[in-house]
Amino acid sequence: MTPLFARKALLVNGWQEDVRLSIDAGRIVAIDTACRPQGDETIAGIVIPGLCNAHSHAFQRALAGHTEYRGPAEKDNFWTWRQLMYQLAARIDANALQNIARQLYVEMVSSGYTTVVEFHYLHRQPGDRALTDAMLKALIKAADDAGIRMTYVPILYERAGFGDKPLSPEQERFAASLDEFTAHYQQAATLINGPHSLAIGAHSLRAVSADSLERIAEIATSDGVPLHIHIAEQQREVDECMGAYHARPVYWLMDNFDVNSQWCLVHATHMDDEELERVAKSGAVVCLCPSTEANLGDGLFRLQPYLQNDGRIAIGSDSHVTVNPFEELRWLEYGQRLAAQERNVAAVRMRNTGRSLYELAATGGAIAAGDPAGGRLEVGARADLVVLDDHSPMLVGHDADSLLDALVFSGFTLPIDRVMVDGNWKVLDGRHTCVELARQKFAETIGRLNWNEMAAP
Ligand SMILES: [Zn+2]
Repeated sequence: MTPLFARKALLVNGWQEDVRLSIDAGRIVAIDTACRPQGDETIAGIVIPGLCNAHSHAFQRALAGHTEYRGPAEKDNFWTWRQLMYQLAARIDANALQNIARQLYVEMVSSGYTTVVEFHYLHRQPGDRALTDAMLKALIKAADDAGIRMTYVPILYERAGFGDKPLSPEQERFAASLDEFTAHYQQAATLINGPHSLAIGAHSLRAVSADSLERIAEIATSDGVPLHIHIAEQQREVDECMGAYHARPVYWLMDNFDVNSQWCLVHATHMDDEELERVAKSGAVVCLCPSTEANLGDGLFRLQPYLQNDGRIAIGSDSHVTVNPFEELRWLEYGQRLAAQERNVAAVRMRNTGRSLYELAATGGAIAAGDPAGGRLEVGARADLVVLDDHSPMLVGHDADSLLDALVFSGFTLPIDRVMVDGNWKVLDGRHTCVELARQKFAETIGRLNWNEMAAP
């Protein structure tokens, strides 16, 4: 039994003071409020639930900062960035993936993420015809080293675009037939255990046929696992979908599938009013990735009408240009402010914007990870929590109402003192227990990637 005494904690019934949390076998087994320390506890300042990073392509952590220059193409955009990303992907074997993902996951836990949803399509080792489990095992090892809870989402990628456009040579490592993919999913089910869990997914409507998506949806329903898919991230994808399916992507999906709370729609950037309302009412989670969407010039999700319809959101760091959940939430709100010329756009059901965004992302992220009761501190919940230093200059002078606003909107050094995942402390005194190994292995791998040979198209 691990007892923890918090001077303040964000519980399901709001902020409480002098809280004793009792933790056993990775779960919160008792919560007492307005109590005194009994002498056997770890004393904490402020305790909040850990967040889920609901969309990650771990290998892309190695790309951060390497694509911020203009190439010879007339316009730089998502599609030119993707060519650089493919050049990186071609060099990532299981060993490189493990070292990059370990560093990334250490960074995630250090900044308050306690779960990651790994949207994984880099299935084959370079030069390997067979689809083995080497890349999956690399991710599991990285997650175990960093102590993050992982929801592994094997992703089907079977074509280059609508109309069964054949794969380009760079995409062949991602590709799997439906049979290979379902075999991999079943193999993953035997390898995923401990704190980790399994989901299933399709890359996008352009990369997966309607029949294959139907099969994936059947598996998700019969196994009761989340289904993740990129959708409507780019205007070009909307236009191509109109050409092939005579409907906008989200319309087509909603008309042809029983989209419900098991579905996680990643980005869903380009939706009209009716699509926004239909998704919000379906119970599906939209995973927003504000830093990546800004970095790639994707467009802006219209948050306010979606939240007014009680739409669910999660956040993801996607390409990992930043790994800071508070920064993601800040940019989510700032994008809206810049577009609307208004302030506090996300404060739809709650007065305070930072707290509103944090709680929405915590509960929505947990649903996207397949743990609908997660993302909150209550008896029976997983012991995934973040301890904040209440003496930090960022937080002093803030009361319960504005503490999370300060965290989301002040871009200072994060005042994270400790992080617990599954009942285990992974960050102590602001330092991750695996930081040295992670840095050393990451540096070795990055040194082998030969960035100077990669060039923008
Ligand atoms: Zn993505």
